[in-house]
Amino acid sequence: MRDLIDIGANLTHDSFDHDCADVLARAAAAGVTRIIITGTSVTSSVQAAALTEAYPQRLFATAGVHPHHAADFDEHTSQALHALLTNPAFVAVGECGLDFFRDYSPRPLQHAAFEAQLELASQLHKPVFLHQRDAHDEFVAALRPVRTRLVGGVAHCFTGGRAELTAYLDLGLYIGVTGWVCDERRGSELRAALPSIPLDRLLVETDAPYLLPRDLATKPATRRNEPAYLGHIVERVAAGMGKPIEMIAEATTANAERLFGLAR
Ligand SMILES: [Zn+2]
Repeated sequence: MRDLIDIGANLTHDSFDHDCADVLARAAAAGVTRIIITGTSVTSSVQAAALTEAYPQRLFATAGVHPHHAADFDEHTSQALHALLTNPAFVAVGECGLDFFRDYSPRPLQHAAFEAQLELASQLHKPVFLHQRDAHDEFVAALRPVRTRLVGGVAHCFTGGRAELTAYLDLGLYIGVTGWVCDERRGSELRAALPSIPLDRLLVETDAPYLLPRDLATKPATRRNEPAYLGHIVERVAAGMGKPIEMIAEATTANAERLFGLAR
């Protein structure tokens, strides 16, 4: 496989501090030529900026505030994100959304932070990188009024079934699939929905260092996921959709280039 794009990797996570260069070398050797670093707070987005400067045209990033950190979203946050997003290496606003599974931030603050970031994305004509857990109905309700003003978005780490998929496709969203698809136990709903994802809306991501594919032949002792495993996810997605691996690789790369405005 050639030229895969990992659209979601948390490379500013401290587990990558000591060997980021090796991680990127392994990714490149495995055909993962471009990676979009997920920003989850202003601080992590600033850290991501430094990485994109060190590896231009290989690393890109999102700038945003994860719903877990929504309580930290204050009057300075939109301005800080806006400043970051003027850098062409920043290709999306997020990750942003709603997470009622953990509820680390109060729900009204999650809504406020989410709506502010949707507004920012529409102003800046950048797509949104979206997170949703146990909040489907309210998430869709927040997106519906702004959807025509957004240039696009991805429901990152999609783990839902057909009903959720249909709602996201109706909103015009792309669907980000992770190594969750490799999980025999938890991934069954996703695997059932997989053949219904249109080829021109599919994206792949590792969500590294999280979500190490459970069915890797040799698992790293650290249990840390990394972008080099993206090809494994592509293989599982291809098998689940009943399509050739190369077809999934080519489609997901073209989709990422289109949504995030990357060079072809
Ligand atoms: Zn997420």
